[in-house]
Amino acid sequence: MLNDLEYFEPETISDVITFLAKHGKDTKLIAGGTDLLVDMKKGKVKPKYLVNLMKIPELSHIIEDGGGLRIGATTTFREIEESKLIKEKYPLLFEAARAMGTVQIRNMATIGGNICNALPSADIPPALVALDAKAKIVGQSGERFLPLEEFFVGIRKTALESDELIREVHVKSPPAGSGTAFLKIGRTASDLATLNVAVRVTLENNGACKEVRVVVGGGVGPTLIRSKRAETLLEGKILEEPLIEKTAREVSKELKPRPTSIRASPFYKIEVSKVLVKRALMKALGRAKAGEDR
Ligand SMILES: Cc1cc2nc3c(=O)[nH]c(=O)nc-3n(C[C@H](O)[C@H](O)[C@H](O)COP(=O)(O)OP(=O)(O)OC[C@H]3O[C@@H](n4cnc5c(N)ncnc54)[C@H](O)[C@@H]3O)c2cc1C
Repeated sequence: MLNDLEYFEPETISDVITFLAKHGKDTKLIAGGTDLLVDMKKGKVKPKYLVNLMKIPELSHIIEDGGGLRIGATTTFREIEESKLIKEKYPLLFEAARAMGTVQIRNMATIGGNICNALPSADIPPALVALDAKAKIVGQSGERFLPLEEFFVGIRKTALESDELIREVHVKSPPAGSGTAFLKIGRTASDLATLNVAVRVTLENNGACKEVRVVVGGGVGPTLIRSKRAETLLEGKILEEPLIEKTAREVSKELKPRPTSIRASPFYKIEVSKVLVKRALMKALGRAKAGEDR
């Protein structure tokens, strides 16, 4: 099955870019391999060249930088989960990373792979979008930054060109007065999400909601969904339970679950989203009020 495959282990990003410029269309990059190797085994993907990113030191790091965080593309979920910096200052990322797969999978799986695989049920993307994160993309024509929200263009489709890779993810530090929460339900503890929700609530000094993000994943559309209705309904208001409950119902109207999902029916996902979004908003609000997230 893998007979015609040529395998490379470059040690620098510029070697990868040079290789992709020549062979991008026939190449698959591999990081942890937890998605790609499954696809290759099933014969869904048949690359001519396989380029391993895991031997490139410049791709693996968690660095606090100015007002934010830079996470290298091959940083594993386990490294994210175990980072004291992330646990203390970016608890939303910690919660999303910890909710992902089993510890064996988290030891191998990378943040770059999770994003580039672009599954609508992936766990880290909703958390990153709730924090207004950007992907740093590098390729033959230089580097560019893309908000994560714009990076996902369809089921397993991204805005990456064939000669590009993700180098880093840049995450802004949540503003003062922020509280966050990540909730997920799955058929089993280690399954992909039937539904996941990432929320950030940022409060003004007077207690009103300055900014909110409600991001829902889990096959509720071709990509995750950042709820604009939630932002319209909640920003500028004092957040109380009835308004949050109404908002959760409104968010559910923006979801378009696929009828063919193997995990749950559209009806189930819509009904559960109302509960999960409400719970996540209440939790994030409580944390913002308590100053737990900073
Ligand atoms: C048993 C099991 C359980 C799982 N549970 C979960 C779960 O609960 N939640 C969840 O979100 N996911 C889950 N997954 C899916 C998977 O583990 C994640 O999506 C993982 O983060 C993929 O990362 P990777 O490093 O293994 O990617 P790989 O498989 O190496 O690559 C995935 C894709 O991304 C591309 N790619 C990788 N890195 C880059 C880069 N830097 N730039 C450009 N393209 C790149 C590859 O070419 C490939 O197309 C599970 C998988 C398994 C097998």
